[in-house]
Amino acid sequence: MGSKDDELHVMFLPYMAPGHMMPLVDMARLFAAHGVRITIITTTMNAFRFQNAIHRDIEAGRQIGLEILQFPSVEAGLPEGCENLISTPTPEMSMKLFQAIRMMKPRMETLLRNHRPDCIASDVLFHWTVDVAAELGIPRLSFSGSGYFNLCVSHCVERYQPHKDVSSETEIFLVPGLPDEIKLTRSQLPDLVKGRNEFSELFDRLKEAERKSFGTLMNSFYELEPAYADYYRNNIGIKAWHIGPVSLFNKDAADKAERGNKASLDEDSWLSWLDSKKPNSVLYVCLGSLTRLSKTQLTEIASALEDSGHAFIWVVGKVLNSSGEEDGSHEWWLPEGFQERAYQSGIGHIIRGWAPQVLILEHPAIGGFLTHCGWNSILEGVSSGLPMITWPIFAEQFYNEKLVTQVLKLGVGVGNEVWKVWATEEMPLMSREKIRRAVTMVMDQGIAADEMRRKASLLGELAKKAIEKGGSSYNQLKALIKEIRSFRQPPLCRNL
Ligand code: UDP
Repeated sequence: MGSKDDELHVMFLPYMAPGHMMPLVDMARLFAAHGVRITIITTTMNAFRFQNAIHRDIEAGRQIGLEILQFPSVEAGLPEGCENLISTPTPEMSMKLFQAIRMMKPRMETLLRNHRPDCIASDVLFHWTVDVAAELGIPRLSFSGSGYFNLCVSHCVERYQPHKDVSSETEIFLVPGLPDEIKLTRSQLPDLVKGRNEFSELFDRLKEAERKSFGTLMNSFYELEPAYADYYRNNIGIKAWHIGPVSLFNKDAADKAERGNKASLDEDSWLSWLDSKKPNSVLYVCLGSLTRLSKTQLTEIASALEDSGHAFIWVVGKVLNSSGEEDGSHEWWLPEGFQERAYQSGIGHIIRGWAPQVLILEHPAIGGFLTHCGWNSILEGVSSGLPMITWPIFAEQFYNEKLVTQVLKLGVGVGNEVWKVWATEEMPLMSREKIRRAVTMVMDQGIAADEMRRKASLLGELAKKAIEKGGSSYNQLKALIKEIRSFRQPPLCRNL
């Protein structure tokens, strides 16, 4: 370990939502494993989600620490302990959470000024960190949580506005300018793309901050989306370093089991259940950390799983009642008798709450992943060499779906056509038949399914190689650390 003046110090600011926080914390730990001193700014309840892993890193001799701030839940009108988007089931609560996060800005700024790190690695949503970095004369890295493909499609849709040339919400259009033929419909585009709304100003600021940043940290690997990594660099003109898939950095069994939260199931039961199943025979069903479905939709999923006849592990999300409020007395709801039948026949295992997703996905019995196409889930599915059944719902999930189904050809869509913000609007119902058909196409044996499995398995191998010594992501991380170091001013100048 070098002296304090030689060592590089990077401060990480992860946003308080699992899909943002988990990969950025993995990245922070990865930097620490490469000899960089790391400080992560977070809050009390969020720290619980990853502090055990940090303690293990410290025991392993890494220089990584936390700056824990108190979260202003109560000041913002939230219940005490509500510090993460996963704990806000209604739009009103989410808006209060965003407000509470904004209230933390002065304290976060003070921490950054007091520490005077050599670099700030910040979630894209903390756009203001670009100004603090400029004031301190240090680089700011931005992290959006998505892959190159999404950034390129977003760029081309915004630039060429192809959705304005179609006559209906359901007419298919091609996105011009991209390396592949990407087909979309207007109904699949985020609201923000179709017109300005209450988030437009924020997104303008994020984009401006990205342009002023030193570059972008990408949770991806070159072999997954080479044409889009090149396109992003050459056409969008923002520096980017792909250093993923960062979930693979969790090699320790405890790190995998506790990633993102303490798992809500007892390991022995699901593990011994999976151990009893044949390789590639079980479908893993999880629609991310934020999606809330109606009871009607859960009934359709349950029926589809029973109809398909394939074994499954289903991470059941929380339900919304008809008024859109979370039904506290039935947080996790299933059709009557469904779980009993699944357990008696041995065909299914239910997880209520937080699943150790990366651990489950890498089990040899898992043969497919029904996913909402959150970027982390896609990367984790790819890393485990799994074909996918895609069910995008909101955010950039429809774009991610097209990477899986139209470019990589590793999956089949259930056929959702309509983008809806989670928990705010009634989502279109996906019928049991549509879900069953997609499940069958991926899980049944057949030429098409075998081909998807073969491709997925190959990409899984490439993902693992990318992060190993000499791999594409490993080399990018080394290059990035070198660039940050070369940006660094001599200690004397910094103290002036
Ligand atoms: N996740 C998990 N257990 C769960 C639900 C989600 O470990 O029960 C993790 C999953 O592995 C992924 C992240 O939460 O890393 C979700 O991120 P993603 O981008 O897939 O979707 P989001 O939840 O942000 O919509």
